[in-house]
Amino acid sequence: MTKGELVLLVWNDLVGLSRTRGVPLEQYERRRQHGLGWALAGQSLTPFEDIAPNPWGPMDEVRQVPDEATRRRIVLKQDYPAFHFALCNSLHADGIPWECCTRSFLASALDDLKNQTGLEVAIAYENEFLLIDPALEWAAPFSVDSIRRAAPFADLCTRALIDAGVDLETFEPEYGVGQYEVSCGPATGLAGADRVVITRETVREAARQCSVTASFSPKPAPDAVGNGCHLHVSLWDGAGNPVTADPAGPGGLSAAAGRFVAGIHRHLRSLVAITAPSPVSYMRLGPHHWSCGFDAVGVQNREAAIRICPAPDGDAAAFNIEIRSTDATASPYLAIGAIIRAGLEGIRADMTPPAMVNLDPASLSDAERRDRGIRTLPESLDEALDAFLADDSVGQWFGPVMIEAYGALKRLEAANAAAMSDAELCQRYRGAY
Ligand code: GLU
Ligand code: MG
Repeated sequence: MTKGELVLLVWNDLVGLSRTRGVPLEQYERRRQHGLGWALAGQSLTPFEDIAPNPWGPMDEVRQVPDEATRRRIVLKQDYPAFHFALCNSLHADGIPWECCTRSFLASALDDLKNQTGLEVAIAYENEFLLIDPALEWAAPFSVDSIRRAAPFADLCTRALIDAGVDLETFEPEYGVGQYEVSCGPATGLAGADRVVITRETVREAARQCSVTASFSPKPAPDAVGNGCHLHVSLWDGAGNPVTADPAGPGGLSAAAGRFVAGIHRHLRSLVAITAPSPVSYMRLGPHHWSCGFDAVGVQNREAAIRICPAPDGDAAAFNIEIRSTDATASPYLAIGAIIRAGLEGIRADMTPPAMVNLDPASLSDAERRDRGIRTLPESLDEALDAFLADDSVGQWFGPVMIEAYGALKRLEAANAAAMSDAELCQRYRGAY
């Protein structure tokens, strides 16, 4: 480590961006316990320069306190400064989590699930992104040509992700021109969400060091293929046994997993305000893009918002539930936390899982969808926020201050977006995410 190296204290905020303050390496130990101060009003920043109306005054402050377990130092090129960072919890001076700390929100949802049901959740994400490089020429979707044209970046990124310890499983070309995807193995609880933040920032860093840009925006251009950020979850008991699958259950789900899915399904239309929370998210969501336009649940169904993924070899540990209505403008902490809250409600209320839909819901008529209880997902951020704010459970999961701040912030983003053309909107979000 070099003298004067900068260590970034990083927190992922309400709009899912990783914000930071840096300290010289020599000061890091001194900052470990109480972190650095940050004005609460900063939590009401849109992805751009606007601050939404918020409940906080000019003197209100929180401490951004690093969690040593998340500290990473990634060196990719000998002549380029190390990418050195640690993820933070936003705590009051007495160490109590701030009610708008996204990471603490997830931690408390995980604790409640564990305490009330004995269950733990393993989390894995698929991260799709667009590589923006004017020199990158057209190549066929999913082709060797597509990945080899980006080989210097792909290799640097692979090394970086291995150094970052995110259990990189695959790096692959995707459908869109310049679109790629990295998938990491599952991690339990908070570490699963930390892994998403670390993965995204590491991919961005590798791109920067290759003088290109990686954008995870759900719709980088009006005619571009969307970037999803599918979330895979599975349930585990206290002894570390997988308990998501039961071949005899509906869709192969165990009783607990069926109830868990039922809770998520019940709230899916409000949850998208958290899991697909930007104006451009609604340019991605929709039928025929494998991104989903309806709240259907189905086994291996890529047009369903919730896809049950059985393991090909019947391995119970690999069986998982995929939520497809998620993208990278969401804070992974808020998205996973809210999904766990909804799933926990399903378990506690002994909800019945919905019937499995094993066809493209768009191929049904409105009446057929109604008969099967399949609803259209919101088609705009405002429509999602209406569902979110009208949902009583959501108010209990988040608490009044978070709801007030989040609602005002997202309404402002929606209003600002209304004044822009689609092309301008996509371009701005592409730059921010
Ligand atoms: N790009 C699609 C999306 O926006 C997902 C494609 C896939 O299934 O990999 O969700
Ligand atoms: Mg994909």
